[in-house]
Amino acid sequence: MEMMSCYDLHSHSTASDGTLTPTELVSRAVTAGVDVLALTDHDTLDGYAEAGRAAAAEDIRLLAGVEVSVVWKNMTIHVLGLNVDPESQILLGGLRGLLAFRDRRAEEIAHKLEKAGIPGALAGAAAYRRGRILSRTHFAHFLHEHGHAASLRDVFKRYLVKGKPGYVRGQWAPMNEALGWIIEAGGLPVIAHPARYGLTRTKLARLIAEFREAGGVGLEVVSGSHSRDETLHMAALSREHKLFASAGSDYHGPEKPWVNLGRLRPLPNGCTPIWEADGWPHVA
Ligand code: AMP
Ligand code: MN
Ligand code: MN
Ligand code: MN
Repeated sequence: MEMMSCYDLHSHSTASDGTLTPTELVSRAVTAGVDVLALTDHDTLDGYAEAGRAAAAEDIRLLAGVEVSVVWKNMTIHVLGLNVDPESQILLGGLRGLLAFRDRRAEEIAHKLEKAGIPGALAGAAAYRRGRILSRTHFAHFLHEHGHAASLRDVFKRYLVKGKPGYVRGQWAPMNEALGWIIEAGGLPVIAHPARYGLTRTKLARLIAEFREAGGVGLEVVSGSHSRDETLHMAALSREHKLFASAGSDYHGPEKPWVNLGRLRPLPNGCTPIWEADGWPHVA
């Protein structure tokens, strides 16, 4: 019988808010037994060239991917673009706009924190970044280091989410526009960790319907951040709405040992894996 390949289609490197360099990430994926890895940094493809060089020397297939921050009905949603052309000027151009927003947002976050009595957050957060992207994760590290909360989770809850002193509303790309960039780059659009947005069933169904109308094809059914029940619920939605099912750890680095590369639940029965979609690269 043919061996099942191990897929991990959602991971981060130092190009966004992960803590391993692209080279270290690939090496760790190889050790973990991953056969097909997608690098999906937030709003950037900067890590792909280095990851590609690392993967070329190893027995692993690396796909170019990106986790695009989008706005849908005033909410931030994450859409994965899997197997994109990393040179697509349309996609790269779109992502540049998101980087520009990230820079403006970082200044605004720092300004708000200063008004709340915490100076120096912009430089403080920037000291944690290792790539071009400034993420709330970098602010969280700064705030944590300076004793403003006991854990990173706590920092988010107390400072960086809606209603808290360092919150700035995400002015990301409209969902349809972001899907256009991904499709133009030959990639497959997938809703990342769909159970994490706190949406009611009705709203989630609405999101999925609009996502499909805009050319979306996949739902991340298995995720490092989904419980078993959430996985089964998302599997049912993927079947009902005829979306391919994707699987990814959302690995950010060894500091979160409860999420590991390639250590994922199997896709529940009846799901059609995204690696069986038209346009999925042939993996020897
Ligand atoms: P950003 O895209 O810059 O707004 O940052 C979002 C990132 O922050 C996510 O990709 C997560 O990695 C991280 N994050 C969001 N919420 C939390 C939380 N409650 N605890 C820890 N990390 C979080
Ligand atoms: Mn992240
Ligand atoms: Mn995400
Ligand atoms: Mn992610």
